[in-house]
Amino acid sequence: MPEFKKISIVIPIYNEEKTLAKIIAAVENADVFGLEKEIILVNDCSKDKSKEILEKYAGKHKILHHKINKGKGAALKTGFAGATGDIVLIQDADLEYDPNEYINLLKPILDGKADVVFGSRFSGSGAHRVLYFWHSLGNKFLTGLSNMLTNLNLTDMETCYKAFTKEIMDQIHPKLESKRFGFEPEVTARIAKLAKKDECRIYEIGISYSGRTYKEGKKIGLKDGFEAVWCIIKFNLLKK
Ligand code: UDP
Ligand code: MG
Repeated sequence: MPEFKKISIVIPIYNEEKTLAKIIAAVENADVFGLEKEIILVNDCSKDKSKEILEKYAGKHKILHHKINKGKGAALKTGFAGATGDIVLIQDADLEYDPNEYINLLKPILDGKADVVFGSRFSGSGAHRVLYFWHSLGNKFLTGLSNMLTNLNLTDMETCYKAFTKEIMDQIHPKLESKRFGFEPEVTARIAKLAKKDECRIYEIGISYSGRTYKEGKKIGLKDGFEAVWCIIKFNLLKK
């Protein structure tokens, strides 16, 4: 069984001046069962003060910049390429997901049971902010469509919280094509293909969710939902 010593936490950032310092502090303080923590901050060409805020962390954390805004998927791909941890975890730069729950995400991997863990907003008993009905229905529809083609029984494909062992991440990140929010269905399709060959064990754990409104800075929209449908079809049926 591989030994886990270090975790890389990759944070994609686009115009997150309101929450950036807070989320970095929360990630720095989060319990990760004593693993060494590598924090990778990827500035996806923010137009607000995010860049200035990041300057304060120079020398402390890994900071990467995009010259143009490319999207969450592209920012993650940049971050993954620089990650050196035995486990790689994704953290959005808003405060929708709580780093205090890393221990729950990490446990199945550290116990040697899982290679990938998804944090589900739709299972478990953690607190959930009550927000957009049509948005949650859209999420469930996308998870259902993805499940039909991957034959996985996930409850939240679109979740930000996904943790991977380095072995799995090294196999998938060089292939990633989706620049924007198509990342989630693409990565799910790619790990499902490994799972079909018995090369990847996927677990899910309930997480809490403090969703934000569009006024509070949420960026994903209807257009991204349509893109997700296309990505589910493309990466499950049309691509290797
Ligand atoms: N993000 C990014 N580039 C973009 C759009 C978003 O790096 O062009 C980042 C954003 O800063 C956040 C994460 O991707 O950390 C998810 O974005 P958002 O919270 O708007 O999406 P949602 O929570 O709706 O999935
Ligand atoms: Mg978010």
